[in-house]
Amino acid sequence: MNQNKKLLEVENLTLQFDTDEGRITAVDNVSFSVAPGEVLGLVGESGSGKSVTAKSLMKLNPGNAIYSPETKIKLHLEDRSVDIMQLKSSKEMLVARGGSISMIFQEPMASFAPAITIGDQMVEQLLIHTDYSVVKAKKYSIEMLDRVGISDPDQRFKQYAFELSGGMRQRAMIAMALSTKPKLLIADEPTTALDVTIQLQVIELMKDLVKEFGMGILFITHDLGVIAQTADRVAVMYLGKLIEQGPVRDVIRNPSHPYTQGLIAALPKLDDLDAPLVAVAGDIPSPLERPSGCVFHTRCPVHLGGQCRSMVPDFSSVATGHAVACHLIDVSNVQQQKVAVS
Ligand code: SF4
Repeated sequence: MNQNKKLLEVENLTLQFDTDEGRITAVDNVSFSVAPGEVLGLVGESGSGKSVTAKSLMKLNPGNAIYSPETKIKLHLEDRSVDIMQLKSSKEMLVARGGSISMIFQEPMASFAPAITIGDQMVEQLLIHTDYSVVKAKKYSIEMLDRVGISDPDQRFKQYAFELSGGMRQRAMIAMALSTKPKLLIADEPTTALDVTIQLQVIELMKDLVKEFGMGILFITHDLGVIAQTADRVAVMYLGKLIEQGPVRDVIRNPSHPYTQGLIAALPKLDDLDAPLVAVAGDIPSPLERPSGCVFHTRCPVHLGGQCRSMVPDFSSVATGHAVACHLIDVSNVQQQKVAVS
């Protein structure tokens, strides 16, 4: 992994939707990057804006989506850079969808057309995005089904998605997403619907494929445990804002934002099964009632009063590559500076 080289750069992504109840902000000034061969975990509760962020990378959000003019999404390929926000026609988007970028979803039925066999869909995608002949595309598709651990791949190739079990469908979707050797894979809750053993197999498979193809992965989940096993870096989202990001071990061992601390406290501890599970108190507010200042202040157990209610916290660095958006960090940095001076 070369973290200096960027594969994906997202800067100031702000996305609103016009709804019957009014305009809502789904993503607010979010910036992150993914390097080739890197897995970035994007974590947060449902309603935090993770999936909408992911769909923005392929412009898959519905027609009522309004991107701010400051939004920049760039995909840096070997021979050129693609400015995703400037792609207008569906022909132009083909360069991104299913070619350089692939996406896998929690529910694989969303990826497959129900009335076309798995094999025909895989072949069609290869014919669009590669120069393979039909014979080569068929052979390669069966090979990919085999690679993801699907038994009897020649037979599965001829079947429809509804004929496969949930775990097998998930693997078939991963095989299809990876068959075009995308530079960037967006995996939206890819293992949530699977039982634990299949979940582990799918995670191991994705890690192997990162090594083999050198692709970058944006791995979206609400499950920090899965992120700990999978990601190199993690970015935590709350109500459309990024609130903490850094190397996965550092963030999990030393979470600095009260929300990340709450998510980690809510994880079951296998070495102390009697320890109570502490959920983050309260519910994520409706985007129609977005809190002012720090968006987490209505649930924060330590908030600092007026400052948190009225001022949006900027990111501050707490360790190498580890940054947090919380006024507490500003306060402790100032206190540390005072101690150092006195
Ligand atoms: Fe809590 Fe204030 Fe930090 Fe927000 S800025 S997380 S309200 S302490």
